[in-house]
Amino acid sequence: MCGTCGCGEDDGPRYTHLTEHAHHHEHPRTVVLEQRVLGRNDGLAAQNRRELAARGIVAINLMSSPGSGKTTLLERTIADLAPQWPIGVLEGDQETLLDATRIRAAGAPVVQINTGAGCHLDAEMLRGGLAALEPAPGSLLFIENVGNLVCPALFDLGESGRVVVMSVTEGDDKPIKYPHMFRTADLVLINKVDLLPYVDFDQERCAGQVRALNPAAAVLPLSATRGEGLGAWYAWLQARAPHRRPVQFDSRG
Ligand code: MG
Repeated sequence: MCGTCGCGEDDGPRYTHLTEHAHHHEHPRTVVLEQRVLGRNDGLAAQNRRELAARGIVAINLMSSPGSGKTTLLERTIADLAPQWPIGVLEGDQETLLDATRIRAAGAPVVQINTGAGCHLDAEMLRGGLAALEPAPGSLLFIENVGNLVCPALFDLGESGRVVVMSVTEGDDKPIKYPHMFRTADLVLINKVDLLPYVDFDQERCAGQVRALNPAAAVLPLSATRGEGLGAWYAWLQARAPHRRPVQFDSRG
C-alpha cells in the first residue's frame, strides 16, 4: 500500500504458494486509487494540458525504474536537439539535486522537484514546476518522473506524451510485472542495447508483452551512450510537433 498517493490493492495483498498443483487461478486485479485524489489530479492535468498546448510546448513524461538511463538519455538529447529546439527539464526525485546538476551541465534550463517521501509526480507538482521553470513557448519540455514503475503510471500530469524507459539489464519481464505503467505508455524505449551481448534479455519477448498490453505503444531499441536508435527517438519527438521545421541531427553514435 502506498501511503502517499493512496494507491493500493482493493482487498489487500495476495499470497500464492507455488506447488505442482498450483494452476493459473490468479486473475488480474486493478489498482484502485481514491476517486477524490484522482479526480482532483485529472482536473489539474487537463488545465496543464490546455495551457501547454496554448504555448506550443511539447511535454514528455519520462518514467522508468531507477537506473534505466533517463538522465543520460536527456543529456544526449539536449546535446543533439537543443541547438534547434529549445529544451527545458523538470527533474523529479525524492531527494538530491544530482540529476538537475547533470542537466544544467548539459546546457538546459532545469528545475528539480524533490518529492520527499512521495513516489511520483502529480499534476499540481507539474504546475509548480512550470511556474518555476517558465519554459519558452514552442519548446520541448521533459519531465523526468520519480524512478519507479508503479505510482507514476496512475497520475496524468497533462503531458502530451508518456514514455517508459526500460533497460536490458532490468530483464525482459517488466511489462507483464508492471502492466499499468506499460498500458499508459505512448512509447517504450528499450535502452542499453549495447549491453545485449552480456545479459539475458529477449527483445522480441519484451516487445510482444508490450504489444499484448498496449497495441498502440511504439517500441524502440536504443543506446543512449552509443547512439543506436537515437534517430528514431528524435523522429518520434518530432512527430509530436508536426508544425515545427524538422530538426537536423548527426545520427552517428
Ligand atoms: Mg535520473
